[in-house]
Amino acid sequence: MCLLLLKRPKSKRFLLCFIEESKYELFCRLEGVNSVLYSTSAQYIHLIPETVSPLLQSLLSSSPFTHVVSSTSSTSKSLLPRVSALLDLPTLSDITSVEHDSSTSATTFTRPIYAGNAISTIRAPADVKIKFFTVRGTAFPPASSHETDGEGVEVKAVESVEVSDPRTEHIKTTITKSDRPDLGVASRVVSGGRALKNAETFEKVIYPLADALGAAVGASRAAVDAGYVDNSLQVGQTGKVVAPELYVAVGISGAIQHLAGMKDSKMIVAINKVVFALATFSYISLMFCVAPVFRTPTPLYSKSPMLDLLLTCTKPCQS
Ligand SMILES: Cc1cc2nc3c(=O)[nH]c(=O)nc-3n(C[C@H](O)[C@H](O)[C@H](O)COP(=O)(O)OP(=O)(O)OC[C@H]3O[C@@H](n4cnc5c(N)ncnc54)[C@H](O)[C@@H]3O)c2cc1C
Repeated sequence: MCLLLLKRPKSKRFLLCFIEESKYELFCRLEGVNSVLYSTSAQYIHLIPETVSPLLQSLLSSSPFTHVVSSTSSTSKSLLPRVSALLDLPTLSDITSVEHDSSTSATTFTRPIYAGNAISTIRAPADVKIKFFTVRGTAFPPASSHETDGEGVEVKAVESVEVSDPRTEHIKTTITKSDRPDLGVASRVVSGGRALKNAETFEKVIYPLADALGAAVGASRAAVDAGYVDNSLQVGQTGKVVAPELYVAVGISGAIQHLAGMKDSKMIVAINKVVFALATFSYISLMFCVAPVFRTPTPLYSKSPMLDLLLTCTKPCQS
């Protein structure tokens, strides 16, 4: 694990990020990175929050760090609150904007609440010495990077903090392998819902369409709960949050918990026998419908007119 220290030019502010070692070189090239802390201790090979927390507590309690940030993930949701609680500070999760006022040392955040139906604005004043927060990646543009291989970046080893009797042990990691684009970052996503009826139909209908579009595959919770696909493909409030250029929702009703995970998609195509509820959200300017199409599933998708239609259709839904 590496800790990244980012210091803004002409500022005493630092940001501390947690990154995987495999991404180390990539992060060194990021604009604004000027210092990297790392540890080679075997106890940090797996990011077990109970083991990493004492290290971060020790680093942060005697440091000039003012902000601690990580992308929103299961690991960061477990790690950051532990560390901030040890330092008697709060953590904010899944923020979608951040603004720092250097004259008052206050930082103002926004974050979606009620499955994205309301936006909460939160101000962390100066007496919150270190602002801990996790970030919804889809709400921010990618960081720019430079070509050099981390030239000028200070790299420093840190002493590990031994945890003699860890209560949690890493047994094994099972990763679902797929040749398809990664759901979290894909520019196109095809998701299937309960209407697909079973795993076999899901595979027959969704995968050919996804392959033809070069898209990642997603699913509603109903489809995941019914065992059509693995739960790593769930999109929504309790699944992944995506914001692709194109989101195709096949046989998905558009429950608010599903919308919470995809409503920031640039173009949404709903394949449904009824109109997808998202059309009533005024901040989505484009909503295209192809309905109803999958009574005779696979053949339609494998023909190019259907693909052309999906990619270029311009018939707005009636809300
Ligand atoms: C705390 C909580 C968290 C949740 N988190 C999530 C989450 O992260 N992600 C998520 O997706 N859900 C989540 N849910 C569940 C959510 O409320 C819905 O139950 C779920 O999204 C419904 O999935 P669905 O749209 O596939 O199924 P349904 O609601 O059953 O919709 C099926 C759709 O298929 C259409 N259809 C049926 N037959 C055809 C046909 N022949 N041709 C075309 N269309 C057809 C229907 O018109 C309907 O719109 C959560 C719920 C709770 C309470």
